[in-house]
Amino acid sequence: MGESIQAVRGMNDLLPGEAGPWQALERAARETFSEYGYREIRLPLLERTELFKRSIGEYTDIVEKEMYTFSDRGGESLTLRPEATAGIVRACLSNGLLHNQRQKLWCMGPMFRYERPQKGRYRQFHQIDVEALGYEGPDVDAELILMTARLWRRLGLSGISLQLNSLGTPESRAVYRARLVEYFGSRADALDDDSRRRLDVNPLRILDSKNPAMRELVAGAPLITDHLDDASARHFDGLRARLDEAGVSYVLNPRLVRGLDYYSRTVFEWITSDLGAQDAVCSGGRYDGLVAQLGGDPVPAIGWALGEERIVELMRLQQRAPAGTNAEVYLVLAGEAAERAGLRLAERLRDAMPALRVETNCGGGSFKSQLKRADRSGARLAVILGDDEVGRGVATIKSLREDGAQRQVPLDDVPSTIAAERAEAPTD
Ligand code: ATP
Ligand code: MG
Repeated sequence: MGESIQAVRGMNDLLPGEAGPWQALERAARETFSEYGYREIRLPLLERTELFKRSIGEYTDIVEKEMYTFSDRGGESLTLRPEATAGIVRACLSNGLLHNQRQKLWCMGPMFRYERPQKGRYRQFHQIDVEALGYEGPDVDAELILMTARLWRRLGLSGISLQLNSLGTPESRAVYRARLVEYFGSRADALDDDSRRRLDVNPLRILDSKNPAMRELVAGAPLITDHLDDASARHFDGLRARLDEAGVSYVLNPRLVRGLDYYSRTVFEWITSDLGAQDAVCSGGRYDGLVAQLGGDPVPAIGWALGEERIVELMRLQQRAPAGTNAEVYLVLAGEAAERAGLRLAERLRDAMPALRVETNCGGGSFKSQLKRADRSGARLAVILGDDEVGRGVATIKSLREDGAQRQVPLDDVPSTIAAERAEAPTD
């Protein structure tokens, strides 16, 4: 016998017993997006490597060390998507979705990053992603944030707080960048290796350092919000005023820079103190330069992405994770005639009660073993059919919860009897 094959490290199986909160999260997200007029877009998991290099930036963690990149059989360099925005912009451009139009879009699915696997950080993880393209803001910036706040309420989650910052324009950032290089450059001895490397290529990322030894140095650094151009400062004021009016509280964090190069003006992150080190559950920002950077006409845009694994974990911790669904009715079918009649009866039940969850016993077995399976299925009712019952045109309906109460009814009356029982029983 061969050795059993293990899953790839950092890539998780989602087992049936764990699906409940995932389904609830995704359902709540779909409902929320449609209420705000956002429409779904589905894209390939693979894109040309070039797309991510040109959008995310060569000197970011993602492009430097986290991408799953390989040559396909035709020798083309492809990459499993590490995030969704680049692909969405690419799709908008390749399909002409930004010609005299604006787009409010969402998508969800797996992303891939070669990171060190740990709690809340995986190599295949899942994001729900929202983008508004063609909108200058700050109205749409506020809308996107209100949408996330509504999603937390809908999921019953608490203790998620909003951090907000503005990165200005590329021009104002260049001025700030020079100030930062000056500040960190004159203290180069105190920098860790990562930060020293970033000093030349991407000094803003030093502010994002997760090394506690760097904290004090980072705290003394000049603030980006003191270097905003007038238009960006007005944009930021506009966003804050709208959030204030809507009663959404936030913390200004001038050191929030985000790990991708394409951001400008608004950036934000929703964080929680319940998840330990992996505390960001949803992050986003404006990327006014990205569409032009990828070859389109300049189009302002903003988006956010939430990490489904982290939200699901939060749902569990806060006891907001619904259990998966069980069967409601289990058909016990002993004998060939019963099996065949049962298959038809199950279809009639589904016709009569479209939301009813009916499981038929497949693969035979004795009455006793089938009743055990019925019990394990979580169903409240068993419908029992043997060949003898089929001959007489009756079925037995047995309660699996209240001490085995049971009665015989004509086969034709089974749907109406179950409908009546269901109307009385507490829903689950
Ligand atoms: P972090 O600072 O935790 O590395 P990030 O800034 O790299 O996050 P984004 O690229 O903005 O994250 O992705 C949006 C969200 O996706 C994050 O807020 C987080 O919830 C989730 N996320 C990112 N990377 C991972 C991962 N490797 N595993 C699980 N979730 C992730
Ligand atoms: Mg990261």
